[in-house]
Amino acid sequence: MSATNCKVRVLAQDTVAPDIRRLTVAWGEQRPEFAPHAGQFFMLRAWGAAETPVLSRPISIHEVRGPEGALVFLYQVKGEGTQKLAALRPGDILSLTGPCGNGFDAAAAAAKGRVAVVGGGIGVAPLLQLCKELAAAGRKPELYVGFRDEPYALEAFLPYCAAISVATDSGAAGYHGLVTGILHPEEFDLVLTCGPNVMMQGVYKLCAEKGVPCLASLERKMACGLGACLGCTCHTKVGPKTVCQDGPVFPAEEVFDLG
Ligand SMILES: Cc1cc2nc3c(=O)[nH]c(=O)nc-3n(C[C@H](O)[C@H](O)[C@H](O)COP(=O)(O)OP(=O)(O)OC[C@H]3O[C@@H](n4cnc5c(N)ncnc54)[C@H](O)[C@@H]3O)c2cc1C
Repeated sequence: MSATNCKVRVLAQDTVAPDIRRLTVAWGEQRPEFAPHAGQFFMLRAWGAAETPVLSRPISIHEVRGPEGALVFLYQVKGEGTQKLAALRPGDILSLTGPCGNGFDAAAAAAKGRVAVVGGGIGVAPLLQLCKELAAAGRKPELYVGFRDEPYALEAFLPYCAAISVATDSGAAGYHGLVTGILHPEEFDLVLTCGPNVMMQGVYKLCAEKGVPCLASLERKMACGLGACLGCTCHTKVGPKTVCQDGPVFPAEEVFDLG
């Protein structure tokens, strides 16, 4: 798997919801072996080597706009690193390392049959590119998304999904409750998910009850993003694995329990 270090120019920075930003950067000049795909991520750094935070920040690929085009990131402003990303303006330069990780294999997923894609909160970030690649492989997925309150960033999914179902904890939109309340895995041949661990655990449990395979994209704090420091190692049922290089996408039964 090839990752590059490069400096890229900011094309746009949009506010999608109060603490959610969409950052678009120019990616046109990169070589084909660095072509990113759904579920992979980049380590982003918009500050100098001697400045804090010490570590770059992992952010998933939200969308790749054409091989010659732009890379889009959707992120939640949480602490110092993402605040510094949020301060970027068009024309500013930032450093990227990536694409990192294994990602989703959309062609293999599409070949399985009917696909459900399940996201929670900012876990929807990697799912746009996933839906786009599934649609390109001839299999528009059904998207199930859960949010605490007002949903965001869903319009971009419309062209690539057969249906979109929304659940909110507050009842602000769609089904009033958890996304697991509207998902029926037996209607699908494969379920792909990204979101809070507790949500993915619930999705996996429903899938396991119905014998439907499930792939989950995990999030861990990580330092290098390249499999070198082993800081993001997680203990799976088939031994220790790095989330940054072996993952972030894993068969759900390897990383979640049914308990
Ligand atoms: C592979 C991968 C892909 C990711 N993709 C995205 C994405 O597309 N969009 C997005 O908004 N975020 C994504 N994240 C999470 C993002 O990297 C963190 O939110 C970010 O690093 C926080 O940095 P900060 O300096 O702003 O906050 P910090 O000051 O480091 O932390 C602020 C708060 O966020 C928590 N936090 C920090 N890192 C993580 C983490 N990795 N997981 C869970 N909680 C964390 C801290 O515990 C603290 O409570 C991804 C993480 C991984 C590992």
